[in-house]
Amino acid sequence: MSLEAATGEPLRLVLTLEKFSFGVGDRFAHQARAQLRAFEMLAADGIDAAPVWNKSNREHTLIGSQPQSVLDAAQAAVKVLGWSKGWHVDADHIRLDTVDRFIACSDFFTIDVADSIGKQARAGDVAAFVARHPELIGTVSIAGAGAPFQTTRSDIERVAAKYLLAVQDAASVYRHIASRKGGANIIAEVSIDETDAPQTPPELLIILAALADENVPLQTIAPKFTGRFNKAVDYVGDPARFEREFNDDISVVAHAVARYGLPANLKLSIHSGSDKFSLYPIIRRALARTGAGVHVKTAGTTWLEELIGLAEAGGDGLQLAKELYAHALDQVDELCAPYATVIDIDRARLPSARTVNGWSGAQLANALRHIPTHPQFNPHARQLMHVSFKLAAKAGARYLRLLEENEAVVATQVTENLYRRHLRPVFVG
Ligand SMILES: [Zn+2]
Repeated sequence: MSLEAATGEPLRLVLTLEKFSFGVGDRFAHQARAQLRAFEMLAADGIDAAPVWNKSNREHTLIGSQPQSVLDAAQAAVKVLGWSKGWHVDADHIRLDTVDRFIACSDFFTIDVADSIGKQARAGDVAAFVARHPELIGTVSIAGAGAPFQTTRSDIERVAAKYLLAVQDAASVYRHIASRKGGANIIAEVSIDETDAPQTPPELLIILAALADENVPLQTIAPKFTGRFNKAVDYVGDPARFEREFNDDISVVAHAVARYGLPANLKLSIHSGSDKFSLYPIIRRALARTGAGVHVKTAGTTWLEELIGLAEAGGDGLQLAKELYAHALDQVDELCAPYATVIDIDRARLPSARTVNGWSGAQLANALRHIPTHPQFNPHARQLMHVSFKLAAKAGARYLRLLEENEAVVATQVTENLYRRHLRPVFVG
């Protein structure tokens, strides 16, 4: 965004992420329009959320696609539908060694520093941090949080030692992108979700103070929340505990903005956010009560809707969907291994290929579609197919041709899933 000043010099404004934003994945670059349609429907309900098309380096590598394809697909959809509101392209989970090919075609950068968490920071840096932040020691009152945080000097030292190196990494990745693209042209997110232990709200406060010290103007932060955020299925954990923690995290973010001068629109980002039906009412209530914004990131749920659409379409589409299921069963170990910590599949509950071959398109669609109360829904088959998208990539031109031939039915699945099962429950209710 730029304004012409009286002198004719362009006045640069910092690219600002909207209060509500929602990350969507489009692995095969065929559903951007169907996705954008869901945001149009939400806008018609009176809620503006900015679509953010995200695709990680890992996904590009598995599928063999280039980052530019995400921008091209998004731009085409924005043009066709005449979308005049905000939208972004997210270089998802990038690091210093993977970010370069994303820089030209992204404006949102999810800087993933989880690998550096727990690597011991320099003792001098820890001591300097603790000396700079006496306000973090003792009773720390955070407006809106459930109770004041009680912390000791050794708590701060321990957390700083665990996270300072990750914070320094985030700063160097940010500076690298800013030096190439200009700091005013980028939205920075820092992600610390892909790690073992969740961050407590007091830890989040310390991390944000450290990011402010390093001058990282992050607009979203993705902590690891309590409970399991399995891929493509609902939250597994204690929703009441999530609610307390989420509310405290919102309060911590507001406190950090005021106290440490972080960007005023800084907000939480919820990763693996698709299908977390039991959390959406909690998130919606928290946003309504606090006035906070949120970013919810989803990705693979779109590929499942493509598969469901092909099953519904019948004919060659259904045939390919059944073949992909059979291949997935054959390679279940190999397909599930990289996702072991984020899926829970009971192999005994996976129907045989023979059984699925006898199903109608509607039955296969019902097994995969995430309607937990549906008698034919099978969360095990759904999770297996969620991690099997590279089999569709292998089917290549045949898969893409069937998507195109069955565009209407596939697009309906994509739009409905995003609008009815995601955007509406999070933002409207
Ligand atoms: Zn993540």
